[in-house]
Amino acid sequence: MTEAYILIVDDDTALLQALPQALYLRMPGMRVDTCDSALAALELLKAHDYDAIVSDIKMPGMDGLALLSRVQEMRPDTPTLLITGHGDHNLAIQALRGGAYDFIQKPIDRDYFIAALRRATQTRHLRRRVQEQQHSLELHAKSLERTVQERTHELVEANAAKDEFISMASHELKTPLSSLKGMTQLLHRRLERASSPEVNSLVSMENSIRRIEVLVNDLLNISSLETGMFALQCQRCDIVELTQSLVNEYVVGTNPHPVIRVKLPAGPIEVDVDVERIGQVILNLLSNARKYSPSGTPIQVALDVHDAEVHVSVQDGGVGIPADLVPQIFERFYRVPGTEVLTGSSVGFGLGLYISKQIVEHHNGHIHVESTPDQGSLFLVSLPLPVASDVSNEHANFETSSQTP
Ligand code: ADP
Repeated sequence: MTEAYILIVDDDTALLQALPQALYLRMPGMRVDTCDSALAALELLKAHDYDAIVSDIKMPGMDGLALLSRVQEMRPDTPTLLITGHGDHNLAIQALRGGAYDFIQKPIDRDYFIAALRRATQTRHLRRRVQEQQHSLELHAKSLERTVQERTHELVEANAAKDEFISMASHELKTPLSSLKGMTQLLHRRLERASSPEVNSLVSMENSIRRIEVLVNDLLNISSLETGMFALQCQRCDIVELTQSLVNEYVVGTNPHPVIRVKLPAGPIEVDVDVERIGQVILNLLSNARKYSPSGTPIQVALDVHDAEVHVSVQDGGVGIPADLVPQIFERFYRVPGTEVLTGSSVGFGLGLYISKQIVEHHNGHIHVESTPDQGSLFLVSLPLPVASDVSNEHANFETSSQTP
């Protein structure tokens, strides 16, 4: 056991000499201070942090119980043992209620006294260790907190710098890209008018420009979403007509023309949407349906009304998505590992579905997918109908084929 430091308080000078001697014999290495009154003990307590205090309970002037209550205030972790007269049970109970660690009856049984003191000093030692550990844990927690704060600050700054870079780079790329596109279109028209065979060599250049445009637009979208600058410009429009014209646009602009079967209601369905943005979502779904299906596989587009929502679905018969990866396809930069682009260009950052989901959710809608590997996928976009609209269920379904532009 480590060296202990004890204070013994007793007005009986004989006992004040005998007890330390008994202690030195049984507990070598022990340091003992003695004093013959509670007041003297309080002075010593101010200067020393004892491992235990042993005090007679009956003393002239301030007695042991009063001393105990002062010890509780000054040194609450220091165990105090009180010496009581033989059979003085009431005092012993009072001592324990007052917070004494133990009581020792007179005449003092040396073995009991030593054992009680040993327990008391061990308790003090353990309390001290717990306090030290608590203190070092607190320091550790504080330093961890500081590190987390510093790292968070660094990450926030790095993230802001990244957002700024993406925003700047995509804006800087957009302007020269637009003029390059314009010049190529002009050249295309001129060569066409001149019936020049050179026109064919422009096609791959135009395709490359289109691909870069997709990437730059994805970056611009991400940038506005991340920086909270994403805003919708909603207007009332007929989503049936919008879907049909988007399908037509997609079929005409894609080579070779994809086979798209369209099932739309006969009459209009009015919704409040940002036409550009919802167009972007539907075109992205069409483009994915084509990319992840063998060439020539038909794509189905359907539109109908359910409760207070309009559902636009794009279904393909392509490679599908493993069930456990479905939730991840809407994450930023996520692409299903091992899924190859089967038709058309493989350009993409894995941002299209993330952006689509954000757009749909900004319209208070949701996007849902059902997919079976090797059989195909169905992406369903649900958008709320305007509250006061009188959308009737009378729209007769009809089927059109947009195989040929
Ligand atoms: P990108 O197509 O540019 O990689 P997206 O965000 O549009 O990015 O899609 C994320 C991933 O989800 C794709 O890489 C692909 O693995 C998977 N995916 C999307 N649409 C389909 C689909 N119709 N069929 C199979 N997999 C798809």
